[in-house]
Amino acid sequence: MTLKIMAINAGSSSLKFQLLVMPEGKMLCQGVIERIGMANARMSMKTSEQKWQETSSIADHREAVTLLLEKLISHQIINSLQDIDGVGHRVAHGGESFKDSALVTDATLAEIEHLAELAPLHNPVNALGIRVFRQLLPSVPSVAVFDTAFHQTLEETAYIYPLPWRYYTEFGIRRYGFHGTSHKYVSTTLAKKLGVPVSALRIICCHLGNGSSICAIKGGKSINTSMGFTPQSGVMMGTRSGDIDPSILPWIAQREGKNPQQLNHLLNNESGLLGISGISHDYRDIELAADAGDRRAALALTLFAQRIRSTIGSYIMQMGGLDALVFTGGIGENSTRARQAICHNLHFLGLVVDEEKNRRNATFIQADNSIVKVAVINTNEELMIAEDVMRIALRLAE
Ligand code: ADP
Repeated sequence: MTLKIMAINAGSSSLKFQLLVMPEGKMLCQGVIERIGMANARMSMKTSEQKWQETSSIADHREAVTLLLEKLISHQIINSLQDIDGVGHRVAHGGESFKDSALVTDATLAEIEHLAELAPLHNPVNALGIRVFRQLLPSVPSVAVFDTAFHQTLEETAYIYPLPWRYYTEFGIRRYGFHGTSHKYVSTTLAKKLGVPVSALRIICCHLGNGSSICAIKGGKSINTSMGFTPQSGVMMGTRSGDIDPSILPWIAQREGKNPQQLNHLLNNESGLLGISGISHDYRDIELAADAGDRRAALALTLFAQRIRSTIGSYIMQMGGLDALVFTGGIGENSTRARQAICHNLHFLGLVVDEEKNRRNATFIQADNSIVKVAVINTNEELMIAEDVMRIALRLAE
């Protein structure tokens, strides 16, 4: 029996969607509605054979979802709304309440909204997306899939910050970690490709995109990850600084009279590859600029790799060794140079990359004499979301 599952990622003015045929995981249709709330909203969708794009006025998320459902039928992707068997929603923050994806009930929704304090830009709009689908498809079960849930296995020693204790107990300030759906998907896919149970492996997963995070996965469980209370911490990213000396912030605030919002903007939007290079947040642009001799672009690339190497090193210590290093995300999946720089001179760890396999983005890029496996695996959060809908709402194994 095949089922059709919709994976949804609702943003403040956008809605990304993918309809998958499960359990194969075949993409039936995918797309995005952008500029929701504006007169020139745009809907783009495609199947493996056809593409559509149209601009119209879309007042809110309810209108956006209504349009999406209409188009699925008018483009004959489905015959009727009854063809949709389940909906999975990406939700940014599950706090300490959600250790796994959860069937959407009134109580689940209320808790997602309650957790908005921890993710004010994302959780409210994720909850709105869920509400709209529930109204328009009342008999279709839905599941919330949290970016944080996979990291709920972290031990206290990995998630407590050395701040006064009450900041944890009163406000929930701790490491939560993000990109959990991707880290889980990539680590389980890697284990399948290796033919070894994930429970027997020590994996470090590098999700390197505009946002980047590293995760140490021991026996299938996340035991540490570089993003923390927010997706701002850890390694350097496209426009985010990652970890810096925390006292730089009050210093800048005092010196330039910046308020918290302005400091946030500086850390989130003006830093990272963009801040150092002064050219772009996009890794490809920085590669081109470095090749053309730009010193700051070259420095940005070196720093990017070094900060990832430091994190990998500390996670190897924590796991007591490493069986496999895996790269994913736009940079991890595509940049030969990034992988090369990160894996450079690691013979002493038993980790050696084969240049030719690295150049052609092979699934396994380690050299024959490498003890540690090095893999490149395309992440697929939508598939993971659809699998969770099958497992949790429909009680069908993955
Ligand atoms: P997001 O975190 O927004 O999902 P992506 O995972 O799509 O981001 O990654 C975007 C990053 O991947 C950009 O920095 C882009 O330059 C980089 N990237 C994409 N393709 C390549 C490529 N062929 N070579 C190097 N970098 C690439």
